[in-house]
Amino acid sequence: MSRKHIDAEALAIALVEGDVGALSRAITLIESTLPEDRVRATTLLARLHAHTGEAVRLGISGVPGVGKSTLIEALGMHLVNEGSKVAVLAVDPTSMRSGGSILGDKTRMQELAHHPQAFIRPSPTSGALGGVAATTRDSILLCEAAGFDVVLVETVGVGQSEVTVAGMVDCFLVLMLAGAGDELQGIKRGILELVDVLSINKSDGENEQASKLAAAEYRRALQLMSPRTPGWVVPVRNSSALHGAGVSEVWGAVLTHRQHLMDTGFLVEQRTAQQVESLERMIESGVMSAMRSDPKVQAELDEVVLELRAGTMTPRSAAERVLASYLSRG
Ligand code: GDP
Repeated sequence: MSRKHIDAEALAIALVEGDVGALSRAITLIESTLPEDRVRATTLLARLHAHTGEAVRLGISGVPGVGKSTLIEALGMHLVNEGSKVAVLAVDPTSMRSGGSILGDKTRMQELAHHPQAFIRPSPTSGALGGVAATTRDSILLCEAAGFDVVLVETVGVGQSEVTVAGMVDCFLVLMLAGAGDELQGIKRGILELVDVLSINKSDGENEQASKLAAAEYRRALQLMSPRTPGWVVPVRNSSALHGAGVSEVWGAVLTHRQHLMDTGFLVEQRTAQQVESLERMIESGVMSAMRSDPKVQAELDEVVLELRAGTMTPRSAAERVLASYLSRG
């Protein structure tokens, strides 16, 4: 057996025993772009495959300041106190540009971060969203193999990262705020197509009444849309993550959604569709990097980019020229 296999085997054994140090090392390994690490990561994931699939995979989204980390802290503590093991991962598109991650920062979830049944991993701070999505998908599997019962994937409520995270979890929880007067704005409509459970957070103090009205408005809006999960009526809850109110009801809604997924067979169907999607993305990125690593094709690519800049070629002709060069390589 090669050295690489022995390393991956030792890591797999420690990880399945629930060693969080091994889990951290394994995630670092799958995030690595070094060719030898990629081989080890593939071996590791194949070795752990039989230990995956059991967790509740929950995505959590909402605009900055809505109360995601406060809710994750409250929900996470509720779950660990029930005896569950909880992992928190993050997909933060801003961290990929700034190099610093806000999501998944342990200082935002102080109590949970120190709990022995919890594991918190910040968002990778480099790479494109596609690459981060792939490593987060694999990180979910690693957390499952390490015995985590619930894997929370936190993301910011802006743009493509929400679609990406919704595409890797079983249930997508969205937190909203009341009173901004923008309940039905177009920007929020898009997210209503992804949501499985919605909660109006900060439903406390003088905000409570407005939050109840907002909940009613969202319920009405959701009735007009087709849910992500067939036959599911998206529950709209009110929560106060800061005071812990409504958090167990939000979790109850997640579990009811899960039961619905299992009863209808959609859990398996959705996960399979997600795997196929992930396979296709990986093949695309593999072909793209294979193309870039071929000097002749890369030269062709550089050349057509110059032509595009000069306005002397259309993107379609450029793509065909590069693909032809790749497909005809010796
Ligand atoms: P995130 O950016 O979505 O993770 O939001 P945070 O969890 O960091 O919360 C932003 C601010 O809102 C913090 O000052 C929290 O204490 C506060 N906050 C979070 N949840 C609630 C809540 O339910 N009620 C009230 N009143 N404040 C909250």
